Amino acid sequence: IEPSEHRPTQVIIDLEAIRHNLKTVLAMKSPSQRLYATVKANAYGHGDIAIAQIALETGVDGLMVATVDEGISLRKQGLVDMPILVLGLTDPRGIAEILLYQLTITVSSADFFEQAYQQLEKHQLLHLLKQYPLNFHLAIDTGMGRIGLRTQAEIEAFVEAMDNYTWAHWEGVFTHFSTAGGGPEDYVDFQWQQWLHLLEVVPEDIEFKHYANSAMGIWYPNQPESDIIRLGIAMYGMDPKDQIPLDQVDPSQLQDANLLTIADSPFKPALQLVSELVYVKQVPANSKISYGAKYTTTQDEWIGTVPIGYADGWLRHYQVIDVLVQSQACPVAGVINMDQMMIRLPQQFPVGTTVTLIGRDGHLNNHPSLLAQKLNTISYEIFCSLGQRLPRVYL
Ligand code: PLP
Repeated sequence: IEPSEHRPTQVIIDLEAIRHNLKTVLAMKSPSQRLYATVKANAYGHGDIAIAQIALETGVDGLMVATVDEGISLRKQGLVDMPILVLGLTDPRGIAEILLYQLTITVSSADFFEQAYQQLEKHQLLHLLKQYPLNFHLAIDTGMGRIGLRTQAEIEAFVEAMDNYTWAHWEGVFTHFSTAGGGPEDYVDFQWQQWLHLLEVVPEDIEFKHYANSAMGIWYPNQPESDIIRLGIAMYGMDPKDQIPLDQVDPSQLQDANLLTIADSPFKPALQLVSELVYVKQVPANSKISYGAKYTTTQDEWIGTVPIGYADGWLRHYQVIDVLVQSQACPVAGVINMDQMMIRLPQQFPVGTTVTLIGRDGHLNNHPSLLAQKLNTISYEIFCSLGQRLPRVYL
């Protein structure tokens, strides 16, 4: 899908904010720790190549993606030298590409190596194993319940099985904490104990033993420390808990609430979503607006049309989010369409007036964490939902 350049709807990314967030973590971490930037899912919607480049420029040691294809795409765009760790499990049938593009993979079972070997043999590609090293990290499940070995016995069996696959280089072992970014805190302690217990049977010489996403890396500095910090959401400027001190604020002033958070947080959001009014009209009382004729004007109202809709990732249930025009909060009028939506304006504004959907407009701020709270989700999901049709513009 090509981004729609001939439409005033854009995702604007402040690369200086990304750089600031990375520098903040680089300054916090210990010198021996590596910092890897999580650029999966198109860098959480921010645009993978641009974010990867700024991250490397700022001093990260590696990149992380979710799939082999995301990794190949980065390599094809010129990022050839740095480690790229694929966090999800991969299909052994892709072994030739994994080798050729030098992707570090995650495995959860020694079966992967058996199947990968057979695959190379079948296609007479075994020579690739001599030309290219295969680096891998073993996933360990300490309580996330997603991927990875769960017991010492399973890990011991894996260690033994790996004697058959000396062509593979076991570089790392990692786990993922499920509640560091929200949930019962004692579960962090439980997973931590599991991690220490399972590490007892991991061979000493594995270079990287890592567990830290943003939350674990920044808010739970544990010993032994994570050899790699797998930085995601904090690089994009968000507190992993999407915390906003709502209890200190009158709910009617929700739009202003997150100014407090911004002041407190060491991280700066990088992403804004903006558009423009493309059509403005005054309609009399009792006029119907949008599909289903669900919105009825109660008086003479100024209605503006904004060229964004659910096909751009501005989903129908985002109707509860007021957008910002000239530092005023404007409610959505009627349901959000596929490519357009209507808003109620407090007064007439000219066509071409900026509409801010995510980000700051004067004293108001549609901060992603605030939107996440209103939508009962997390800022990650809002970012990742932003469609391919939206051009990413970098400041
Ligand atoms: N590590 C793994 C295994 C992940 O799946 C993710 C993101 O989902 C991250 C690290 C980055 O997490 P965060 O964005 O919370 O820093």
